[in-house]
Amino acid sequence: MMRAWDGVLLDIDGVISEGGRPVAGAGDALAFLRDERIPFRCISNTTRQPRRAIADRLDAMGLAIPGADIFTPAVAAAALLAGRSLTHCMLLVADDTVQDFEAAGIECAAGAVDAVVVGDAGERMRYRAMNEAFRSILDGAPLIALEKDRHWRDADGLSLSAGPFVAALEYATGTTAELVGKPSPAFFARALEALGTAPEKTLMVGDDIRTDIAGAQRCGIRAVLVKTGKYRGDTVRNAGVAPYAIINSIAALPGLL
Ligand SMILES: [Mg+2]
Repeated sequence: MMRAWDGVLLDIDGVISEGGRPVAGAGDALAFLRDERIPFRCISNTTRQPRRAIADRLDAMGLAIPGADIFTPAVAAAALLAGRSLTHCMLLVADDTVQDFEAAGIECAAGAVDAVVVGDAGERMRYRAMNEAFRSILDGAPLIALEKDRHWRDADGLSLSAGPFVAALEYATGTTAELVGKPSPAFFARALEALGTAPEKTLMVGDDIRTDIAGAQRCGIRAVLVKTGKYRGDTVRNAGVAPYAIINSIAALPGLL
């Protein structure tokens, strides 16, 4: 039988896991994909953790996904930088995330750097580091943004994401960052490359109407919105974006395939 979908991209936070627990039915949905031999990759805009730590976190919830099947802005940026031979980079990212760059041969450097990379560095984001980044960009280093999200929900409340820091560097230098994470078309293109499928034969499943759904649709990927994670009915109504389908949760995914 001809299948409509050759591959699936799954957002992680809010789709297969939520608040440190698996979304009900996520394990069965992943088992279905494996049984039906539908290849899938998990994609996340998280920049605080390397792919290995994300894999460990999911494994602890009973969701076994190999690190190599997890696609993040750090992984995409490392490939992009290596492809351009920009290997000495200022990495304004969380300590652990550096390992995704090192795995691709990108060295954490200071002073005269090939590029400045900004992610959600948490407490590591200090004036001195920002000022060094500012000077490097003025000296000609391109500014690479792993993501430009405004904020995220930490355990103790909303917290600054990488976006405000990227915006500060853009403002100070008069340059525009190259965005690597969702919703940039390059991010989805690289995820498709990893999956080996054509956009029109790939289904994206996400909980964010803008970054997941609109982002994927701009690349010709059909996108399914789940009503878990950050889903809010009014946000979806106001977004002016029509998902291919809206399902209650990933538990309903096998019914679409
Ligand atoms: Mg999400």
